[in-house]
Amino acid sequence: MHHSELQLMIHGDRLGQLTPFVDFPGIRLDRAVTVESENYVFLYLNIDEETQPGTFVIEWQDGKGRTVGRTPYRLEARSPDFEITGYTNADVVCLITPDRFANGDSSNDAHPDMLEGPNRTIDFGRHGGDLMGIEQHLDYLDSMGFTAIWLNPVLENNQPQWSYHGYSTTDYYRVDPRFGSNEDYRQLVQSARDKGMKVIMDMIMNHCGSEHPWMKDLPTRDWVNNDNVFIPTTHRRTSLRDPYAAQSDVKGFADGWFVETMPDLNQRQPLLADYLIQNTLWWIEYLGIGGIRMDTYPYSDAAFMSRWSCAVMDAYPEFNMCGEEWSLNPSVLAYWQAGQSNANGYTSCLPGLLDFPLHDALITSLTEEESWHSDWVQLYEMLGNDYLYPDASAHIIFPDNHDMSRIHTQLGDDVNLTRLATYFFATMRGTPQFYYGTEILMSNTGDDSHGNIRSDLPGGWDGDAVDVRSGRGLSDESQAFQSEFRSLMNWRKTASAIHDGRLMHYVPEKGSYVYFRFNDDQKIMVILNKSQEPEVMDLTRFSEMIPAGAHVVNALTGERHTGGELTIPAWAAWVLVVE
Ligand code: CA
Repeated sequence: MHHSELQLMIHGDRLGQLTPFVDFPGIRLDRAVTVESENYVFLYLNIDEETQPGTFVIEWQDGKGRTVGRTPYRLEARSPDFEITGYTNADVVCLITPDRFANGDSSNDAHPDMLEGPNRTIDFGRHGGDLMGIEQHLDYLDSMGFTAIWLNPVLENNQPQWSYHGYSTTDYYRVDPRFGSNEDYRQLVQSARDKGMKVIMDMIMNHCGSEHPWMKDLPTRDWVNNDNVFIPTTHRRTSLRDPYAAQSDVKGFADGWFVETMPDLNQRQPLLADYLIQNTLWWIEYLGIGGIRMDTYPYSDAAFMSRWSCAVMDAYPEFNMCGEEWSLNPSVLAYWQAGQSNANGYTSCLPGLLDFPLHDALITSLTEEESWHSDWVQLYEMLGNDYLYPDASAHIIFPDNHDMSRIHTQLGDDVNLTRLATYFFATMRGTPQFYYGTEILMSNTGDDSHGNIRSDLPGGWDGDAVDVRSGRGLSDESQAFQSEFRSLMNWRKTASAIHDGRLMHYVPEKGSYVYFRFNDDQKIMVILNKSQEPEVMDLTRFSEMIPAGAHVVNALTGERHTGGELTIPAWAAWVLVVE
């Protein structure tokens, strides 16, 4: 491994009273750290580059030099047959909530060691979806043009309720048995890789679940913030870089807990920091994933997130990651991005962020009445803020996610508007992410509870009347949308100007927004018409991009347009190749 140091957290009855020994070629025990709970010992081992895989034994001796215990530990060989590379802008990501996607194995819906059983009749219960169900849908996702999947967390969440969403980790090294096993997860990543698809892992460093074994036997008193007392975070994220902020407010934001069932981890505790960083590296190596989406990014200790992101990118320079910073202000996102020059000197190695400001501007643009300062102008001006980012194209862009109403609902169940949003995200700078079911216009009209937003994918359960894969039971509108989505995303795979091209956009006029994506090989014109009237568009306005005599060809229909004018139908979402 790039990092030769291995930390082992070992838990056992009064282990701190014993002395550990390791005797294995190429392994050196540098430190054995005892802590406030005598039931833990942290070993720091140095693994020589030449060390061979194999099982070594940690021998425990009491004060009289007698061996009283032996702990075997297996050093695995690295996976030699693939490179660790991250998602790129050539990818289209499908965000999946595993419990709600497809139940591929109903025998794992309940598990004797897990507190919460299945209950599909309540929107916050476990519905039984699992890794097998995702694997069974890989062909479908591939056919729809998705080249990557981001799974909401699948690590063990042994909480008495609300465990389905996966954000309350109770074991950082174990897939929740109701989703499958670690080996199943590895198999899913392998199957995806065989189809040229990447898997993005959702990680949470900020908090664990209240049922995590740590909470019953804290290794150190400072393992969780606020002396293990629930004080909610203020959510006042700007305090971190605010030149006028009171230190108590900075602490109130970063050390406050998200909710009572999610104890806020103190990443300033060096043993915990090492544990979390190593856990990330282990999953990357074990699974061969193609990216990480980091939850609640600014809520963790900022210095730790810097160290974490640099450790990962150091070890895997071709990897990719994005952080969740739910602010509508680009300068707040930019603070965390690699390459940003911050006034307080803060630096990071985080490649990209989830682009909440762009999402918000799009929704505003599509839902506000047209006037001189609204309509597409919101979007146009938000993109103009991209100069604030070291690299705006490294962001993940999205019409919705698991924490907000579905895009179709945000846009008033108006299929014309949802089409415009889909074309926008498929062609804009960044890596687009769509929530599962968007392709069939899934909505949550009338109920914006999280459980309802994350509703079951039709066809994922035996006996479902509707099935996304066969199209059985889908409305005509959903089928038509699914078909167009498939065409658009599959075309996108071939569109190099979308993958790595530059962006030029024009001031929106008469309800239309026009932009170009272009590289040395390809020039693509995107026209999004929000108007309910057809529009005659004079192309000479775009002469910087469309030279005299050029013509444009619709990328999806092949329809060819010549001459200096284009007649754009109402609600047009056009992708044109300039030839
Ligand atoms: Ca299941």
